[in-house]
Amino acid sequence: MIHNRGVAGMKTDVEHFEVVVIGAGVGGIYEIKRLTDVGFDAVLLEGESDLGGTWFRNRYPGSRFDSESYTYGYSFSQALLDEWHWKERYSSQPENLAYLNFVADKFDLRRHMRFDCLVEAMHWDEDARLWQISVKGGDVVTSRFIITTVGLLSAPTMPRIEGVDSFEGEAYHTFFWPVDPVPLEGRKVAVVGTGATGIQVIGEIADKVAELTVFQRRPNWSAPLNNSPISVEEMTEIRSRYDEIFATCARTPGGFEHEPDRRGFWNVSRQERLEMWDRLYDEPGFGIWLQNFVEIFVDEKANAEFSEYIADRIRQRVHDPVVAEKLIPRDHGFGIQRVPLETNYFEAYNRDNVRLVDISETPIERITPSGIQTTDQHYEFDLIVYATGFDAVTGAYDRIDIRGVDGEGLGTRWSDGPKTYLGAMVHGFPNLIMVAGPQSASSTSNFPRAIENSVDWATGLVEHVRANEITRFEADAEAEAEWTQYIAGLYQMVLLRKARGWFTGYNSNVEGHEEGIRHVVYNGGAPRYLQILTSVAEDGYRGISCR
Ligand code: NAP
Repeated sequence: MIHNRGVAGMKTDVEHFEVVVIGAGVGGIYEIKRLTDVGFDAVLLEGESDLGGTWFRNRYPGSRFDSESYTYGYSFSQALLDEWHWKERYSSQPENLAYLNFVADKFDLRRHMRFDCLVEAMHWDEDARLWQISVKGGDVVTSRFIITTVGLLSAPTMPRIEGVDSFEGEAYHTFFWPVDPVPLEGRKVAVVGTGATGIQVIGEIADKVAELTVFQRRPNWSAPLNNSPISVEEMTEIRSRYDEIFATCARTPGGFEHEPDRRGFWNVSRQERLEMWDRLYDEPGFGIWLQNFVEIFVDEKANAEFSEYIADRIRQRVHDPVVAEKLIPRDHGFGIQRVPLETNYFEAYNRDNVRLVDISETPIERITPSGIQTTDQHYEFDLIVYATGFDAVTGAYDRIDIRGVDGEGLGTRWSDGPKTYLGAMVHGFPNLIMVAGPQSASSTSNFPRAIENSVDWATGLVEHVRANEITRFEADAEAEAEWTQYIAGLYQMVLLRKARGWFTGYNSNVEGHEEGIRHVVYNGGAPRYLQILTSVAEDGYRGISCR
């Protein structure tokens, strides 16, 4: 990858670009398109052997969108919208990956991408006003600007359990599920973890394996996905509504078509509430969460009443009352952690070949060469599936050695939680923009909707800088402190502050993240976030010093 096109003053065997984009997922694909469309000399570096990010990985059984497919796709190109036919309301991983490849090929973007280029370090050179980027294997490139599109859920975490490497059967973290099919038939399978991923896997494989044992530490609230195919006629109708669909997504807090009910929880009768919940439970997607009364998110009493409604639904679906009670969360209410959507999840526990092990009662002691030892008994397995989640939001940054002014490490700066300006920049780390970074709205809304806005904003900033012949920009310390305080304040307004999920930076498998009190996401709703980004740009990039 090394060519002779260095900049003055740099070693000539180091390749230089105006902008380096890191990560070829949904964000990176669009970012490299925008940059090259406006004439930047830009390259995209991707650690994997191909593009797709989340959808290049996560090939586990049952992996699919829980956003409506047609709200997840890019909105920037009418031709793309006209050409692509989503086959299912919640499209599966292979189709999602095919879509991203289709986009990259349609706009001839691969020529700007380099695969197997895992960025290990990014060091700021204050004298040269350049970033020096080291790629695994020893290559180095320099760039004036870096835009990271490294993802929110791209740093998977294995459980911190003794003996995890000692298992002699097959074992995978869901993120690293192999390309080649993994045999399921006739096998004894364990799933550890019952988040959105585990819940998808369990519903998908329960009727395909000989025995399935689910190791659940804490249950999650979840509700039916209600997926269905999209016919040619329906896709034609969706195409005719794309403007309306994206306009709706732009005005809802979650970036979906689901608009919250603002009538007031206590202003309608209980009977009306129940009728509404019955209807939403049977509708597709996140309506049950995001079309619900806004009080669900802020009012303990309203949340408790609704949670009890969902608990009753679980009791109706799971035949064994003891198992049903174990599947009902006690430590948090519905919707204050990210809600998994399920297909046949609760019914899986009615099968004779499926058992639930409550490891809050009988913890896993260790993984053995042949299975899993709990405090109660030893279980033998052919295959162990770790659906144990991610070092979310900040993990992808922590895995790169990022050093700013005076060699300060980003990991050190963020040791007690991220501090950013707009979820996009960090004081002391000039010429670096994070798309869907910590404290941005991407994580708390329909990812691609927010990502498109962030990419447009990031591209606008580097265009502004180029047009004004600026070689260095940096978030002001005061602006960063103010934003970080604003983010902390938003947490205080929502019940989510009490959750132990990735929205509060919780992960029991990462040192220092076990408590879940880090302010990693933006809770003000996607429309307000976009308004702020827009006003900052209109104010000549308020809070950002350019020179
Ligand atoms: P997750 O929500 O963090 O769930 C991880 C699960 O593993 C939890 O049940 C956790 O239990 C358990 N776990 C972790 N470490 C463990 C240990 N040492 N021992 C026992 N259990 C352990 O992760 P995820 O399910 O991968 O989902 C993460 C996010 O990815 C979701 O919230 C969602 O945003 C996204 N996602 C989206 C889709 C989609 O449909 N589009 C699908 C999957 C995921 P505790 O709760 O007790 O910690």
